[in-house]
Amino acid sequence: MTGNVSTVSYIGAIILFILSLGGLSNPESSRRGNLYGMIGMTIAVLATIFGPRVSMAGVPWIIAAMLVGACIGIYAARTVQMTQMPELVALMHSLVGLAAVLVGLASYIDHSVVLFGAEKSIHEIEIYIGILIGAVTFSGSLIAFGKLNGKIGGSPMLLPGRHWLNLTGLLVVIWFGCAFLNAESIADGMMPLFVMTAVALLFGIHMVMAIGGADMPVVVSMLNSYSGWAAAATGFMLSNDLLIVTGALVGSSGAILSYIMCKAMNRSFISVIAGGFGTGSGKPAATGGALVPAGEVTSISSVDTAELLREAKSVIIVPGYGMAVAQAQHTVFEITKVLRDRGVNIRFGIHPVAGRMPGHMNVLLAEAKVPYDIVMEMDELNDDFPKTDVAMVIGANDIVNPAAQDDPNSPIAGMPVLEVWKAKTSIVMKRSMASGYAGVDNPLFYKENNRMLFGDAKKMLNEVLTALKA
Ligand code: NDP
Repeated sequence: MTGNVSTVSYIGAIILFILSLGGLSNPESSRRGNLYGMIGMTIAVLATIFGPRVSMAGVPWIIAAMLVGACIGIYAARTVQMTQMPELVALMHSLVGLAAVLVGLASYIDHSVVLFGAEKSIHEIEIYIGILIGAVTFSGSLIAFGKLNGKIGGSPMLLPGRHWLNLTGLLVVIWFGCAFLNAESIADGMMPLFVMTAVALLFGIHMVMAIGGADMPVVVSMLNSYSGWAAAATGFMLSNDLLIVTGALVGSSGAILSYIMCKAMNRSFISVIAGGFGTGSGKPAATGGALVPAGEVTSISSVDTAELLREAKSVIIVPGYGMAVAQAQHTVFEITKVLRDRGVNIRFGIHPVAGRMPGHMNVLLAEAKVPYDIVMEMDELNDDFPKTDVAMVIGANDIVNPAAQDDPNSPIAGMPVLEVWKAKTSIVMKRSMASGYAGVDNPLFYKENNRMLFGDAKKMLNEVLTALKA
C-alpha cells in the first residue's frame, strides 16, 4: 500500500470514528455508531499493517499477535457477565496504559532511529510524558478493577498528608524529567525513566485508592480519558497520526464524560481526584458521622405489589445495579407491557450513575426492547414523583437515598437522587437491608409510605407478573 492510500484510509477511519462517537450519544443511533466504529477500526488496522511503515517481514508477527489477542477478546466477551462489564472495561484501560509504557521504553532503546538537537528533545519529551500517562493509567485502572469487583474495599484510603505526597511525586517527576533529557546516553537515561515510572505507578494506585465508593463513576470515566491520552502519546512516539487523533477523541470524550458525571453527582472534579470527598472527618465512607436511620420497615408481598400496580394511574420504575445482577430487565419489560395495555402511564427514571458504568441501565433496557420514549433522565421526571401513584425501585439503593439531601454528614451528601419517597407509595425491591455501593444506610426503607419487596429482583418480578396476569 502506498503512502497516499494509507493516508486516505487513515482519514476515512478518522471520519468513521467521529461518526461513531456521534452515533453512540443516543440509544437509537448507538448500533449505527458501533458499526461505524468497527468499520473504522478494520480500515485503520489494515492500513497500518499494509502501510509503508511496516515491512512485510513483520506482518506474520503482527497477525500472530492479533490472533492471540482476538482469541482472548472473544473468550472474554463470551464469558463475561453483564455485571462484570465495568471491571472488564477497567482492565482494558489498564492494558492501554501498559502498552503506552512498553512502546515508550521500546522507542527509547530503539537504535534504528538517530535524532539530534530539538528533534531528539521533542522525541524524548514524548516518551517521558507517554510513559508517565501510561503508568498512571495502568496502575490506576488495576485498582479501579479491584474496587469494581469487590476485591478491594470501596472506602477511600486517606494517607496522612496525601496532598503533600502527590506534590512531592510531581516534583520528583519534574526533577527526573530534567535528568532524563540531559542524559548523555540511553543507559544514563534509563534510571530517571525507571524512577519516574515507579512514581507514576504509585501515584495511580494512590489516586484511585483515595476515592470513595460513590465517586467511582468519575474515576471510571477519568481513566477512560487517560487511556485515550496514553494512546495519543503512543501515537506521538510512533509518529502515527491516526493514533494521535483517535487517542485525542477518546481522551476528550472521556474528559467530557467525567465532567458530566461530576455534575450529575454535584462533585467538583478536583475534589474527587484529590480523594476522600464527602468523608469530612477523613474516616471511611460508611462511618463519616452520618445519621443511622431508624424506624419500622414495612414489607410487602408480590401479590400486593401487583395489586398496587393494577390500581395505579402513573408508575415510575427506577432501576439500579440489582436489576443488572438479577438480569431482570426482560421481566420488567413484560410488566411494563401489561401495565401499558391497561392504560397506566409508566416511565423509567434513569440516574446518571445507576449501575456500575455510564449508561448501564440504558443498555439493559434497550436490550429488553423497552421503548426509548418512556426512558427518562433523572432531571426530566424528578418533579413528577408527587403526582405518581407508585415508584418501583428495582435493585437500586444509593441513587434513591434521601440522606443525600437530608444529612450533610452523609458520604453521598449533595449527590442528586431520584425522589421516589415523594410518590404516593414507593416499593423497593432488593434481597436484604444491605447498603449499596457507597456503603451508606438508606432512610428510604424506613419511610411510612415505603414498602420493601424482599427477594431476588427477577424472581419477585416474575411473581408480580404472574399476579398481574391472573
Ligand atoms: P447500589 O449499588 O447502590 O445498590 C444496588 C442494590 O441492589 C444493593 O443495595 C443490593 O441490595 C441490590 N441487589 C443486588 N443484587 C440484587 C438482586 N439479585 N435482586 C435484587 N436486588 C439486588 O446501586 P445503584 O444503582 O443504586 O447505585 C450505583 C452506585 O454505584 C452508586 O453509588 C454509584 O456511585 C456507584 N458506581 C457507579 C458507577 C457508574 O459508572 N454508574 C461506577 C462505579 C460505581 P441487596 O444486597 O440487599 O439485594
